[in-house]
Amino acid sequence: MENKGNISIHAQNIMPVIKRWLYSDKDIFIREMVSNGCDAITKYKMLHADTDEDLRVTVTVDKDAGELRFTDNGIGMTAEEVEKYINQVAFSSAEEFLKNYTGDNKGGIIGHFGLGFYSAFMAADKVTIDTLSYQDGAAPVLWESEDGMAFTMRDGGRTERGTTIILHITDEEKEFLDGYRVREVLDRYCGYMSVPIYLQDLNKDETKKDPDEPTGTAEEEKAKEEKPINDTHPLWLKNPKDCTEEEYKETYRKLFHTFEEPLFWVHLNVDYPFNLKGILYFPRIKRDFGGQEGEIKLFNRQVFVADNIKEVIPEFLMLLKGVIDCPDLPLNVSRSFLQNDGYVKKLSAHITKKVADKLNGLFNTERKQYETYWDDIHPFVKYGCVRDSKFYDMVKGSLLFKTTKGEYLTLDEYRSRNEGKAEKKVYYTTEANRQAAAVALYTDKGIDVVVMDTLIDMNFMSFMEFGGGNEGLQFVRVDADVSGLTEESEEGKDIDQKQMETLFRNALNDQELTVKIEALSDHNLPVMLTEEEQVRRYKEMSAIYGQDFGFPSKYTLVLNRLCPTIRALASMEEGDVSHLLCKQLFDLARLSSRPLEAEDLKDFIARSNELVAMMAEKA
Ligand code: ADP
Ligand code: MG
Repeated sequence: MENKGNISIHAQNIMPVIKRWLYSDKDIFIREMVSNGCDAITKYKMLHADTDEDLRVTVTVDKDAGELRFTDNGIGMTAEEVEKYINQVAFSSAEEFLKNYTGDNKGGIIGHFGLGFYSAFMAADKVTIDTLSYQDGAAPVLWESEDGMAFTMRDGGRTERGTTIILHITDEEKEFLDGYRVREVLDRYCGYMSVPIYLQDLNKDETKKDPDEPTGTAEEEKAKEEKPINDTHPLWLKNPKDCTEEEYKETYRKLFHTFEEPLFWVHLNVDYPFNLKGILYFPRIKRDFGGQEGEIKLFNRQVFVADNIKEVIPEFLMLLKGVIDCPDLPLNVSRSFLQNDGYVKKLSAHITKKVADKLNGLFNTERKQYETYWDDIHPFVKYGCVRDSKFYDMVKGSLLFKTTKGEYLTLDEYRSRNEGKAEKKVYYTTEANRQAAAVALYTDKGIDVVVMDTLIDMNFMSFMEFGGGNEGLQFVRVDADVSGLTEESEEGKDIDQKQMETLFRNALNDQELTVKIEALSDHNLPVMLTEEEQVRRYKEMSAIYGQDFGFPSKYTLVLNRLCPTIRALASMEEGDVSHLLCKQLFDLARLSSRPLEAEDLKDFIARSNELVAMMAEKA
């Protein structure tokens, strides 16, 4: 025995799911009503290509009646169509319409899941459809339902083609009877839809008619406000060669409600192998980008869908601002699906490539201009390199390093300029002011020092050293070692390292101190305090991640045997004077890379006074 049939769904069971779970944001019911109106008009236009009628959607806020009304002069619906597309949940007319449509302008219809209409019940306790189809001889229909489950349907009185959806707003959702609130939602979701949308706020209307007069008439719905709230031809859908710089900036200001100007932008305009339109703007990203949030608005056929969908846009691009309009994205499906979708991956790879192309293009053809952007964009670019090695491979030739002198060099340029002086090392400073003395030791020798002072730099340097395919590259902070500062000389070679170490250990009362003797080419510099690069980085990293393992600081005190002071110290009898000098030298070494703490500073000043007094006595 065989039994065949169709699974049936009970509206009583499915409606609560739609109301509660399908849409996370309540206000999207407005988007759904408006987009249905737009669809109805788009269809009408597809069937009447040469029409010059004023086709529009009007949203009317009527607080007195407790209603929000959506009126369009699109194709309308016959009774059969209401039966089919409204009375059956999850049944969209889009597919059938397109199947029967023979023209070649198939792109503009928004709907296709057949669920949008029921979002009306998220905010309404009564929904009325008042409609008249464009078809010859069609009768007007009036449909009403209080819960989206039971409905009544009868002949309507409408005489003008089109549809009005009347939402009687529930007590809980009264906010949607405020014109400003509705305007805000319209701006957000409908600001770029393809059909002119007008907002009519009857609360604001001085010439308001008698509230007892029947509402919803075509006459009344005709908006008085003569400017549509939307821009029906968004810039990102245009051909890049038809867009002016001012237009790009204007779109930026409008989209992000800012007076700020973007640095530059990338216009995405692909039809094949996928349909992707959009504009990505590079905002001014200031030094500490930790708190910086980009904003990428996702549109689907000119309808705003969501902000910052991480699954579609490569994570590091989230620091940018912009819009992406992609009609083929399955945005109503779950996020985890998007993550694993091959199509989405391709999109995301394409976007990455376009951004890399833009950077390389600027680097190659407008180097000077590009350098002026670098301070703003470098955290973003570096972050991108660390997050996505493919991106790094694409842009590695265009990465710049800013020197303490304000020049911008690529890695290759740094290397060739410092050949023979810096080996495979790149010297850097994390705080050009505090480390000025140590920086000067290098720059005086003609070695470039680059500035690495943002949060991302530490990760970026490690990445360049270990993952960037830069054989042997080492970033060395100016106070990490002295290998770049030495010279060949026999002078002072007889100074005993052990003896000096003992002297300093006694003077400073620190038996752990490491002392080294070197020949530094700055003969006026007696001592330097260095801290091994990897040890310091490790400490800093664990501090950033809040896991300070109490790793001890491991400094080395470097004595310059070419400096007369050190040679004099070496031949001195150990005693009060030599101890005083040791302490003073040690503090001076510390001072050249970090300020002294309270007690140490007091001691330093007292000791300095003592030394001055000694000098004065001698003179
Ligand atoms: P979708 O828009 O995904 O098709 P909806 O639930 O939003 O699904 O709408 C279901 C159907 O109801 C639409 O496909 C359309 O046929 C019809 N419809 C809804 N609103 C209107 C309207 N304003 N004018 C004409 N038809 C409409
Ligand atoms: Mg719809």
